[in-house]
Amino acid sequence: GADLDVVGTPRMARRRVPHTGSEVVRVRGVRRSFNGRVALDGIDLTVHQGEVVAVVGPSGSGKSTLARVVNHLEQPDAGTVEVGGRVIGRRPDGRPASGRELAAQRRDVGMVFQHFNLFPHLTVLDNVLLAPSYLRIGAPEEIRARAAELLTKVGLAEHWQRYPHELSGGQQQRVAIARALAMDPSVLLFDEPTSALDPELVGEVLSVMSDLAQEGRTMLVVTHELRFVRDIADWVVFLDNGRVLRQGNPSEILRGAGDERIERFFASVS
Ligand code: ADP
Ligand code: MG
Repeated sequence: GADLDVVGTPRMARRRVPHTGSEVVRVRGVRRSFNGRVALDGIDLTVHQGEVVAVVGPSGSGKSTLARVVNHLEQPDAGTVEVGGRVIGRRPDGRPASGRELAAQRRDVGMVFQHFNLFPHLTVLDNVLLAPSYLRIGAPEEIRARAAELLTKVGLAEHWQRYPHELSGGQQQRVAIARALAMDPSVLLFDEPTSALDPELVGEVLSVMSDLAQEGRTMLVVTHELRFVRDIADWVVFLDNGRVLRQGNPSEILRGAGDERIERFFASVS
């Protein structure tokens, strides 16, 4: 497959929220502090089935902490995170989940990081195969076929035998996306997936993300990339000081939503 280099045409036909679909991610009253410093100060956020939600805001506003709390890489001090109706980190009876139960819950949340976080000693294919093979999600030949299909989807079918250091940043990030998809999660989380890339490589990653959005994948994306907010997101949440300052549709938020801080923010990143 040829490497992709442009973002798909704007998705004019995509419906805009509020959606009536089921709630895939439901964050309620989440607080989190680090050494007395508040990172999340009572966050409420809902992501519906098939919805693409962008999270934007200044550095230090709590975006990464929010993504990590949804994946339970961080535990909230207060409040709850539900994915697919189950409270992350808890059993149905409200008691804390065991490590094994937590691992099962996390499988439902695919995560893509700013710095790719691929396993450097594994080939592209093995990076994608690792989790489903370890967790025995299907027969080995099914897992391989699915991995090959995902690498084709992200435009890297011919690179399956390579190692991460042999690839560009944009290619590595596309492998990371294929890896996140390998467990067929009900939601994909991205934390600034294009901000470590050289500018000429951003488009190929946005293009893959645009395809996923078109397919109806449920996505929560922390990003400063205006093209993503404008052309791909259905809904935008603007964080400031650990709180949701405003949320709304992209055109509303990109125009500042009546808040001078938001206007200044978009002026500074554009
Ligand atoms: P953003 O991703 O929007 O830049 P973060 O979620 O990374 O913001 O950080 C929010 C606040 O929480 C910042 O003040 C940051 O310094 C603090 N913080 C985040 N993670 C940690 C941590 N592991 N230890 C201490 N402070 C942290
Ligand atoms: Mg961050």
